[in-house]
Amino acid sequence: MFERFLSKDAALLKGSEIRDILKITEGKNVISLAGGLPAPDTFPVEEIKKITQDILDNDPEKGLQYTATAGISEFRRELVNLSNKRGITGINDRNVFATVGSQEALFMIFNLLVDPGDVVIVEMPSYLAALNILRSRKPIFIGVNVKENGLDLDELETKIKKSISEGKKPKLLYVIPTAQNPAGTTMNLSDRKRLLEIAENYDILVVEDDAYGFLVFDGDNPPPLKALDKSGRVIYTSTFSKILAPGFRLGWIVANEEFIKNVEMYKQNVDLHTPSFTQMIAMEAIKRGVIERQIPKIRQIYRHKRDVMLDAINKYFPKDARWSKPVGGMFVFAWLDKKIDTTKMLEEAVKRGVAYVPGASFYYDYSGRNTMRLNFSYPTESDLEKAIQILSSVIKSFS
Ligand code: PMP
Repeated sequence: MFERFLSKDAALLKGSEIRDILKITEGKNVISLAGGLPAPDTFPVEEIKKITQDILDNDPEKGLQYTATAGISEFRRELVNLSNKRGITGINDRNVFATVGSQEALFMIFNLLVDPGDVVIVEMPSYLAALNILRSRKPIFIGVNVKENGLDLDELETKIKKSISEGKKPKLLYVIPTAQNPAGTTMNLSDRKRLLEIAENYDILVVEDDAYGFLVFDGDNPPPLKALDKSGRVIYTSTFSKILAPGFRLGWIVANEEFIKNVEMYKQNVDLHTPSFTQMIAMEAIKRGVIERQIPKIRQIYRHKRDVMLDAINKYFPKDARWSKPVGGMFVFAWLDKKIDTTKMLEEAVKRGVAYVPGASFYYDYSGRNTMRLNFSYPTESDLEKAIQILSSVIKSFS
């Protein structure tokens, strides 16, 4: 009955496939490799309890009152400190902005930058919720494949040139260079530098999603693009979801001051400001070293779970399958035999007790139908092994 009242933009809205799957598995005896939930045993419950009590005892107004749209100024200074830890230097509190998760950051960034018909470059595969925001902006997409070391830069340059020769100059590249969701890849330093050179040469803005920047557990962790950005063309976002608690819905943007002012005006329309209370808790968590102590713990837990998942995949998956060996983050991505459609296979997998996310949703054009994303951060170790065993037998029955 409401359909005839909806705006044209509302018709473009699409439910998140992950949330739909989580709904199917609710209350059933299904091991879910579908979500992107942090392990609950990584939440620093006691520290949060203490911090909350202290805020209410010592400075209740700061935590409970309205605040500035860009965030509590003391918190923004801590965001500068935290960003410094990722190697982003030469910034001050006017370059940072507190958001309701990095999801809101991406929503505001894409709404501020992308008009219908603008050419936007995305990775194939890429983060599905970001793709959904972009879709709502009605751009022309260019997809560039992700290889073992992240974005294929030769393909990127070829596709940029082709698009320019067709009179369509790309405006923006959305990229997850570190522990990519879903592909699990991390770009090396020289590729990062080359990517920035390409962006510079063709005057393309870069939106860098560093959601897993603190969660690299193997090898060295190259600096984010923003740390290498000399001209201010990188807009950076990160989140407290993976290093503190996703329920706080707290993230941040680092960008040049001019763009931060645009974000501020936009956010006044969205929700005035990010909740003061969670900003205060996160601020104290940074100041008291809680985050710094958390990070190595989380890395250790996820490294171990990643190993359990990869060992099981090695043991049970069909030999013609290919999968990522992530050095960080929370996901393994798998490419199966071309004739398998993982969307069609999901129902059978759920029936047998395992859920995953079919890979097509991570491709702007819904290709990649033979791929799947598997989460290792949330399930217990024994469930991980069991789930991969079941999933392998489902895959084999579809081969
Ligand atoms: N970007 C990426 C790549 C993600 O994986 C996620 C969470 N799954 C987000 C952004 C959004 O996270 P949040 O809104 O919780 O900060």
